[in-house]
Amino acid sequence: SPVELPIHDAVLGRAAEFGDQPALIDGTDGTTLTYEQLDRFHRRLAAALADTGVRKGDVLALHSPNTIAFPAAFYAATRAGASVTTVHPLATPEEFAKQLRDSAARWIVTVSPLLDSARRAAELAGGIREILVCDSAPGHRSLIDMLGSTAPEPHIDLDPAEDIAALPYSSGTTGTPKGVMLTHRQIATNLAQLEPAITTGPGDRILAVLPFFHIYGLTALMNAPLRKGATVVVLPRFDLETFLAAIETHRITGLYVAPPIVLALAKHPAVARYDLSSLTYVISAAAPLDATLARACSQRLRLPPIGQAYGMTELSPGTHVVPLDRLHDAPAGTVGRLIAGTEMRIVSLDDPDKDLGTGESGEILIRGPQIMKGYLGRPDATAQLIDTDGWLHTGDVGHVDEDGWLFVVDRVKELIKYKGFQVAPAELEAQLLTHPGIADAAVIGAYNEDGNEIPHAFVVRQPTADGLDENEIMLYVAERVAPYKRIRQVTFIDTVPRAASGKILRRELRELP
Ligand code: ATP
Ligand code: MG
Repeated sequence: SPVELPIHDAVLGRAAEFGDQPALIDGTDGTTLTYEQLDRFHRRLAAALADTGVRKGDVLALHSPNTIAFPAAFYAATRAGASVTTVHPLATPEEFAKQLRDSAARWIVTVSPLLDSARRAAELAGGIREILVCDSAPGHRSLIDMLGSTAPEPHIDLDPAEDIAALPYSSGTTGTPKGVMLTHRQIATNLAQLEPAITTGPGDRILAVLPFFHIYGLTALMNAPLRKGATVVVLPRFDLETFLAAIETHRITGLYVAPPIVLALAKHPAVARYDLSSLTYVISAAAPLDATLARACSQRLRLPPIGQAYGMTELSPGTHVVPLDRLHDAPAGTVGRLIAGTEMRIVSLDDPDKDLGTGESGEILIRGPQIMKGYLGRPDATAQLIDTDGWLHTGDVGHVDEDGWLFVVDRVKELIKYKGFQVAPAELEAQLLTHPGIADAAVIGAYNEDGNEIPHAFVVRQPTADGLDENEIMLYVAERVAPYKRIRQVTFIDTVPRAASGKILRRELRELP
């Protein structure tokens, strides 16, 4: 049943009980916020924000890398009645301005190193009443000063079923990022639905290296662990050595990552130099993870099999997860089981009215209380995604086995149609990554001279594999896949372009000269 609570109460409702246990630790300098402090600080800040003029329904743009202040700023804003739109800290001023205009934001909360960009974005967008900073910067009110506010705590009458708590933007993998309206009820309900699977609690130490601004980080690294009394160690960006050192220093127990980090953990030589023995589980989500790569990672780290979760921004975001107590018996490659209170159908790609059976691949459709309220200002796009019976068409292809485990193949739009066959780029990428000379890879559908679509691989060679050439790569894959799936073109690149959530930006590869 839906959770009828504002998100700050749903998450921090037990903060008093967790008291002086560490809620957040800065992974760079060790600064710690206890649960009692997080609770007290976010209430003070909510009061100060209300005193500054933040009103119910105002949109506040939170523009910051992961810091221990981020959650406090987020829950303060929602407690003051605002809807928070989270912004990529590396967005250009133009991109940021676009999001500010699109969301009609009135407030910005940023950090001093990003202040120039925030100022420029505010100028371009117009309509911003004030730019606040989390740390401190001349000429700007800071959250630190605002903690001294004596203003009374606001009592905003929020309707969890209607009021927007968060306005994250989708990753923009398939086009322009879309603003996703998520109510308090949708986010809080999804947290409760996921909770039985992710049995975190006091003593669990989670490393937050994926960004809080993306819905995956916001849920798995912020809302879920803070609701249960776990400790979140925060890193501002992904740097492999810093990340490994943080696991060792802080005795991290659980990781929520995306496939590129699994790849690094499986292959990078630096991993051997750190003591990662505190880890008890690793969950990957946001993009397809190959079973062979997952196994290489878990074996190297002597961990239970890597679990997966599946979701999308429009689903608040999770629908499937491999429960932590099922890591050992879940089939390899599954993204998990359907969470409670949610329905799923798999329908034919050719005939969306035709439901498919066990083992048959088709589009994944979802219905449940966690489906977004809609895309901001885009009723047409919303109606295209969610049909009149309430089914959300995910645009992802998958199938379920007889025990209900879901396997995601790839996105419908990314499938390469080769001579009438359908080829999933994710499968070819997985094959490529098993080659010892290949550090990273991405596959797209390209068109040959005859106008036929063919699989085209973009490959990053290992530093030690300069000699590896196109033919060797094509042959390697040809020996492992059906003839129609063969890679027919190879381009060497330096890095695979990815979104902050770890997804391959195939549209950028298509634009390469
Ligand atoms: P946009 O909608 O703007 O093009 P996006 O779909 O990448 O971007 P998100 O909402 O961040 O934006 O991502 C959701 C998508 O991520 C899903 O539709 C699915 O394609 C992919 N995804 C999530 N989890 C998994 C997983 N475990 N395995 C495979 N793909 C996944
Ligand atoms: Mg999407």
